[in-house]
Amino acid sequence: MANSATARLGSAQHTSGAGELRERIGTFIRTRVIPAETVLDAGGGDATGALTELRGAARAAGLWALPLPADLGGGGLAFPEYAALAETEGASDHGPAALGSAPLLDVTMLRRHGSTRVREEYLKGLVAGEIRSCYAMTEPGAPGTAPLLTATRAEARPDGNWSVSGRKWFTSGAAGADLVTVMARTGGTARDRDGLALFVVPTGSPGFRVVRELPVLGAAGQYEIELDRVVVPADHLLGAEGYALAIAGERLALGRTLRCLRWLGQAERAFDLMCERAATRNGARGPLADHQLVQQHVFDALLALRTTRPLVHEAVALIAAGRDARTEVGLAKVAAARMLQQVTDSAIQVHGAAGLGPDTALPSLFRGGRAARILDGPDELHITSVAGRVLRGYGRGHGSPTRG
Ligand SMILES: Cc1cc2nc3c(=O)[nH]c(=O)nc-3n(C[C@H](O)[C@H](O)[C@H](O)COP(=O)(O)OP(=O)(O)OC[C@H]3O[C@@H](n4cnc5c(N)ncnc54)[C@H](O)[C@@H]3O)c2cc1C
Repeated sequence: MANSATARLGSAQHTSGAGELRERIGTFIRTRVIPAETVLDAGGGDATGALTELRGAARAAGLWALPLPADLGGGGLAFPEYAALAETEGASDHGPAALGSAPLLDVTMLRRHGSTRVREEYLKGLVAGEIRSCYAMTEPGAPGTAPLLTATRAEARPDGNWSVSGRKWFTSGAAGADLVTVMARTGGTARDRDGLALFVVPTGSPGFRVVRELPVLGAAGQYEIELDRVVVPADHLLGAEGYALAIAGERLALGRTLRCLRWLGQAERAFDLMCERAATRNGARGPLADHQLVQQHVFDALLALRTTRPLVHEAVALIAAGRDARTEVGLAKVAAARMLQQVTDSAIQVHGAAGLGPDTALPSLFRGGRAARILDGPDELHITSVAGRVLRGYGRGHGSPTRG
């Protein structure tokens, strides 16, 4: 990150305001979080210990929970202010957890759609990092791209509570979470969005269990979970029956945009590693940097970074303004995921075998880039929904969307 000025130029967000805070976050990520990445990636007790230590250090440095609401104990930064920092914080995949901003999506969702009891019982604990939450939509037996096919069932009990049963997988952070938000069908058939609802389920409830860990290209953090007739209090339903897809859509728009910002930070790290290697590795005819085919990698990576960043900030601006950002989030998500995969792949290529070995962060950055093209909806889903929306606009005689 130290030599990343070239990749960053061209972003207004990076040349004005909030500079001092961004510097402090950058230093924390570089000197504290990145050196702990190998331990954190491996999971288990050592990872938990390392994360606890990092969180203590973040609190002591005044960098804790910056985008979380101030009245709940967070730093109170508005979304556009945080967006200008999220790239720096997200340069390590572990940055948001270490700095306490990871619960932003859950806190935003529970604050808007949770009952008084849910808000009072959980929000402050989530912001303080005393309790942890996760989100379970994807199921082993149904395509994650088709949530209407959700097989997890919630049945109303005579006492007014709910009984939830089903299996979810790739639930990030489920082991060690205190709460999981679960999408379940309360009624209707597979084409009926009114029959879907979201429930906040305390993981200590009888009938909840973590079935197994699902390492993603070797990295820890994803889990399969089972709910077997878990009794969920009536006031742990979010919004109302039939609101699940609307709430999930709101959450995903914010979540995808945050991820794009973090992927920019990770790609910039890979870009720096690639350029440093090209400039310092000498072959028979001088440094790698003198080879035109190496220069091609550098050019294409820089182009991908620079053309993706404005798309992501367009999505940020629309979300911050409360406007419809579906097209912009879809464009940004596909562009940022492809960009991260491309830049990390090029950086590995320029390193040769060293890029696949244990001495650089490139394998883990590349893994993130590969997963990026699937999580939060695969590329194809965004491509078909953006293109479909655009084409329907033409069908209705609307103007060209090419200028946003
Ligand atoms: C690292 C990681 C973390 C994750 N974290 C979470 C989490 O915390 N909570 C959670 O609920 N889920 C999580 N997921 C799951 C993720 O959101 C889903 O994997 C994703 O939405 C795709 O669903 P699926 O895997 O069921 O794929 P499917 O829906 O089965 O799709 C498989 C493939 O079919 C093709 N396809 C699908 N739809 C279309 C289409 N419309 N047009 C053309 N082709 C299509 C695509 O190639 C797609 O990749 C995570 C996944 C990963 C990898």
